[in-house]
Amino acid sequence: MKPFDYVRAEDPAAARKAAATAGATFISGGTNLLDLMKLEVMAPDTLVDISRLPLDGIEDHEGGLRIGATVTNSDLAADMRVRRVYPILSRALLAGASGQLRNKATTGGNLLQRTRCPYFYDTDTPCNKRTPGEGCAALGGETRNHAILGTSDHCIALHPSDMAVAMRALGAQVEVEAADGTTKLHEMDDFYRLPGDTPHIETVLQPGDLITAVRLPAPQGDRQVYRKVRDRASYAFALVSVGAVIRMEQGRIAHAGVAFGGLGTKPWRDPEVDALLTGNAPSRELFDEAADTLLRGAKAQDGTEFKLPLARRVLRATLEEATQ
Ligand code: SF4
Repeated sequence: MKPFDYVRAEDPAAARKAAATAGATFISGGTNLLDLMKLEVMAPDTLVDISRLPLDGIEDHEGGLRIGATVTNSDLAADMRVRRVYPILSRALLAGASGQLRNKATTGGNLLQRTRCPYFYDTDTPCNKRTPGEGCAALGGETRNHAILGTSDHCIALHPSDMAVAMRALGAQVEVEAADGTTKLHEMDDFYRLPGDTPHIETVLQPGDLITAVRLPAPQGDRQVYRKVRDRASYAFALVSVGAVIRMEQGRIAHAGVAFGGLGTKPWRDPEVDALLTGNAPSRELFDEAADTLLRGAKAQDGTEFKLPLARRVLRATLEEATQ
């Protein structure tokens, strides 16, 4: 591992200042970053430890919740407000990783976790995300765990988070303190970037920007389902996952927030899918039409073609459960 400096930030302003210098990065739980550093996929000059900052609270906020960036995945999944009012989030968190990892992994870190594309972790193979311009070993390689939505000719890596899929379905916003101290709120769709020809740039964050919280609005649907299909029953990333937040009124879908994991280069939500479902009575034909809409721009590789029918079936099953 390359030697690095370690700074423990005493307050958010000091953290932002320290992280604004070249080669610096934040660390809190470190469950992904330390692996990447050991493999020399990431080699920061300075680690700015934010784990002692007062960002570990879950507060009632404008009818919803404000979740501090260093709240652990375990604490968030166990919070009674989350379990009662946002059960999709609790279920998605518990479907991810292992108990030990969830005890260390944080809300902000989960959002920023890197892809599990095996070539990204193998420094003997070309990877545009690791080294811009180097090429992409996944194209023409093993692609079972890669994306079919939002891909480019430069990268087809999947975003691996379960938590972020639930947050997208709930309409969460990411709260960021910029290096100059101003606070910005990002819709999650805007927070993540598509790979395009710069797959190494994954979010809109600038040097020194500190994620301080995730804000959940008041829940817009009381029927919440998170369904995850994976190769093993535990400790495996999604092949396909669907999170649905639904409100029914008089037999029709009055609100639909549907997000997807295992399919996109970022946690995926398609407003046209939500719009198609809203106002209609649930039916198999409607759910199939929603799948057609979702997959109209999909680009599968030889190893990911199975995701097209699988996504259709998982979406249908999730919506049937949420609307029955
Ligand atoms: Fe790298 Fe992306 Fe290609 Fe994987 S898919 S090898 S992360 S460029």
